[in-house]
Amino acid sequence: MKYSSLIIFVTGIVFLSCACTGSDTNNSVTSSGDSSISVSKKDVINEGFRNKEAQSKLTPDSVLHILQLGNLDYTGDNLVIRNTSERIRKASLGQYPAAVILSCLDSRVPVEDVFHCGIGDLFVARVAGNISNEDILGSLEYGCKVSGAKLVVVLGHEYCGAVKSAIDDVKLGNITALLGKIRPAVMQLDTFSGDKSSKNAAFVEAVCRQNILNTIRAIRMNSPILMDMENKGEIKIVGAEYHMETGRVDFF
Ligand SMILES: [Zn+2]
Repeated sequence: MKYSSLIIFVTGIVFLSCACTGSDTNNSVTSSGDSSISVSKKDVINEGFRNKEAQSKLTPDSVLHILQLGNLDYTGDNLVIRNTSERIRKASLGQYPAAVILSCLDSRVPVEDVFHCGIGDLFVARVAGNISNEDILGSLEYGCKVSGAKLVVVLGHEYCGAVKSAIDDVKLGNITALLGKIRPAVMQLDTFSGDKSSKNAAFVEAVCRQNILNTIRAIRMNSPILMDMENKGEIKIVGAEYHMETGRVDFF
């Protein structure tokens, strides 16, 4: 696709969506691939609560771009309040979210704000260490197969306390079993060069990324429904890392 065509394509996608709004400046978005796109945010409008027709026009890639643009608004201090009383009322009639975000529990990662989304835009499943289990898989399947979401994002973050505790092999109540789901990522980084302790931010981040990849692999392995939807191009399952000091989300 030519560069100019891509700009029109992405602008059109955002026009159809209610997920993003904000400044009138140009921004560059780097996708999970190696392409870089510029989008005129003058064309971005807030249509209000998404309906079924608007959801059906979304694709996994268009939703990914919407989230990337929303993250630019977040890091650029361009968030606007969109959960108006009108949207609240419309939300009572049904929901047609664009994506499902599987996020860590961390209070410093306000998921809807991170992607500049409002009521009805996202399903958000949260569990310490963004791991998957049967209940999480059921939630993801509901979000995609039943409710039409186009993208699953496994969202980890820097300085994750759950990841640090897994590295330290903490044993405490029900936390032990939870950390047991993150421990494989620690073991897989056995050949990491450098200090393999929770005090080494580089190692913590490496484990965080490996854990995200492990969760994605577990989703595909343990959910034939989501695997089938991904194979048919109906959804995509991607990983992402939230950077604490900037608020930027890198997709991979
Ligand atoms: Zn965390």
